[in-house]
Amino acid sequence: MGSAFLISGPKKFEFNVNITDNPLAFKAELIAIILVLLVCLKDANITIYVDAQAIINIFNQLKKESLQQISRGKRQYNAWWILSFKIIKFFNLTVLLVKVKAHDNSEYNNVVDKLAKEALNNDPVFIDPRLLMYKGNVCWNHNPIEKEVTIMIKHIRETQWIEEFFNLHRNDCWNNSEMLTEIDWSSTFRVLKGNTKLTNFSEHELNSFKVKIWTEELPTLDNLVKRKPHVYSSKWKYPMCLKDKETYTHLWKCEHLGQVNRNVKLADLEHQKGINAKMKKSANKSKLVANKLDKIVFHDMSPLTSR
Ligand SMILES: [Zn+2]
Repeated sequence: MGSAFLISGPKKFEFNVNITDNPLAFKAELIAIILVLLVCLKDANITIYVDAQAIINIFNQLKKESLQQISRGKRQYNAWWILSFKIIKFFNLTVLLVKVKAHDNSEYNNVVDKLAKEALNNDPVFIDPRLLMYKGNVCWNHNPIEKEVTIMIKHIRETQWIEEFFNLHRNDCWNNSEMLTEIDWSSTFRVLKGNTKLTNFSEHELNSFKVKIWTEELPTLDNLVKRKPHVYSSKWKYPMCLKDKETYTHLWKCEHLGQVNRNVKLADLEHQKGINAKMKKSANKSKLVANKLDKIVFHDMSPLTSR
């Protein structure tokens, strides 16, 4: 992403850089401001025209705070904000930010827009991370964290958790890019997690039971043989019918359990409908999700009606 500035006076000066490290419009604009501040003369009185109102609002709010107070803030790009106010204090600058309409047809605005676009062909700018250090900065891989620290740590933990989870042997069957794109993950986790507000042992056991069904890890005989071959024999048949081996699929196909299975499926269908109704309510913004849910119910009903 390109970042650019133009100084109109006392001496005309233009500058543009390419930002490749987590490029975002907000960051590009903030870096442009920092670069302008760096080239200003000591004790200068400057007016900077920017097109992001959000930057002006934060700037005006931070103007009233000391560096110590700013460093305690939890806003995004706090390290960059600290740097800009360090420069302002160091050069004793008086800075005023003024809003200019984005992509307005003013002469300077057009020039800066063009400069920013052209910057994409330039070499990326390197900013020494030590510049962004201020007392208690939290770093990740030796780089100061730009986001709010608690959110960043939450995201890192979640990513690590997902990676650990997918690398488990039991997830080998899902662990290919084609299969992963087929799955609607938000719906999957909502069904698996059930009641997200409750955290007690019975909820935990129910959730763990759902995951065991999902990953076909119920303690059926074929799984028990794998876990404790010295105790269980693979020759044993399913004790209820003594016809076939006790596997996950047999549980659903066994004639002996036919009626039980039909009742379970009916109860499950009712439960699923209840969940879908709740999910539809909360997802009414997205028609796409609602249609998907209808398909899930329809799909679930077909084996029942064909019986
Ligand atoms: Zn059977």
